[in-house]
Amino acid sequence: MANEKDLNKQRFDREAAASLVKELRTTFASGKTKSYEWRVAQLKGIARMVYEKENELVEVLHKDLSKPETESHVTEISMVKTACKHALKDLKKWMKPEKVNGSILTFPSSSEIVSEPLGVTLVIAPWNYPFLLAIDPVIGAIAAGNCVVLKPSEISPATSSFFMEFLKEYVDRSAIRVVEGAVDETSALLEQKWDKIFYTGNGKVGRIIMAAAAKHLTPVVLELGGKSPLVVDANINLQVAARRIVAGKWGSNNGQTCVSPDYIITTKTFAATLIDALKNTLEQFFGKDPLQSKDMSRIVNSNHFARLTRLLDEDNVSSKIIHGGERDEKRLYISPTILLDAPEDSQIMNEEIFGPLLPIVTVDKVEDSFDVINSRSKPLAAYIFTNDKRLEGEFVRTVSAGGILINDTIIHLANANLPFGGVGESGTGSYHGKFSFEAFSHKKAVLHRGFGGDAPMRYPPYTPAKQRLL
Ligand code: NAD
Repeated sequence: MANEKDLNKQRFDREAAASLVKELRTTFASGKTKSYEWRVAQLKGIARMVYEKENELVEVLHKDLSKPETESHVTEISMVKTACKHALKDLKKWMKPEKVNGSILTFPSSSEIVSEPLGVTLVIAPWNYPFLLAIDPVIGAIAAGNCVVLKPSEISPATSSFFMEFLKEYVDRSAIRVVEGAVDETSALLEQKWDKIFYTGNGKVGRIIMAAAAKHLTPVVLELGGKSPLVVDANINLQVAARRIVAGKWGSNNGQTCVSPDYIITTKTFAATLIDALKNTLEQFFGKDPLQSKDMSRIVNSNHFARLTRLLDEDNVSSKIIHGGERDEKRLYISPTILLDAPEDSQIMNEEIFGPLLPIVTVDKVEDSFDVINSRSKPLAAYIFTNDKRLEGEFVRTVSAGGILINDTIIHLANANLPFGGVGESGTGSYHGKFSFEAFSHKKAVLHRGFGGDAPMRYPPYTPAKQRLL
């Protein structure tokens, strides 16, 4: 009987990874993925899968994260439908070579930028939006004419199996494949030479990905995370602000979102008013006992549950809880929890929280928040709620972040005309809409000349007569 190691080997090891990449290289070399028609057929296939398997998708997302059905539709399924529609509508435009001006030295000639696919690409996905964050980069890879291997997260196994079972029914299997697995399988994939690696997840693994890619000089997109700050000024519509903050923190995968507000900064004088508004909104949204609410996702697994409770139980932190803190370990729920002025050197103030805990930091003047933010690593998102245009302008100018959103949370990523990605430790590269196409394309410089207009002055011998013309 085969032992577990053999079974793993049969599943997916280095040889299997090498042979998969070889197969996809043969497909890419055939040129078929480059045609507009092939790309459209694949994108339509993915769109068809989403429409036909919508119920299955809701079910797997519920299995993996207890995601409420409406949330699954709004934050995953409809986003993927939109991404397919957008790519199908604009693909011709994206693929068209872009004419650019020449220079005096290249006269007479014409110049253009031709977008060409990179080749055989790898997408490694996380568990928190296990459908959207896996298939969205794949849409970009296909739109740009590449072969692609998708490695979904093992931490969201139901969605991972969904991809394994269904994707092949809708797309060309000779160019688009799924590999399931965890560290071993991903490591086997990472040993291969890829033409692009697109990774979404935490920065620790991001470093492993970048090191593996460096061996082959493979370019990477790293979609990472970090501590996204949210500044609250006193002069705001508090009711609307509280709704948007609570929705962005607890109503979106219960804080398990890369752009989730990680901590709030507000003034000492406004903190109590803000906390009251947040508490009232939490009760309106999730009732008196939020642990029983059906409108909140659970913590993904017991490891993450333990990680979050450790953050709360640290010395000098538990006494800072001013709301929530209740836990249901069996069902993997932690109630929405607010902390006030947790110690600066505590873990909760230094690690990405990625869960339903929200520390509030108080400062004397709202402008002091800029220094708090800029003294840390550059975040994936930075938010400010204010009616003060001067403060808003200063925030945009002073704060470096992957993206900035004023007077709301999270929704900037739903505008596909904006690039989505990090800066510094929150990531490198970006995607969404045309930026996805570009992430998976090489912009090839092409200059066309005829045989006319051949200026003798550029050729030796460089006689004094020629030099006088300079
Ligand atoms: P995860 O644990 O699912 O890991 C992501 C992927 O990395 C998985 O496919 C996993 O198999 C693989 N992986 C894990 N360990 C590995 C290793 N040692 N070697 C090779 N591959 C390995 O997800 P996660 O990292 O817990 O995701 C949460 C993090 O991702 C947070 O930091 C969050 O902010 C970030 N995130 C960023 C974005 C974004 O778009 N920027 C989106 C979602 C999540």
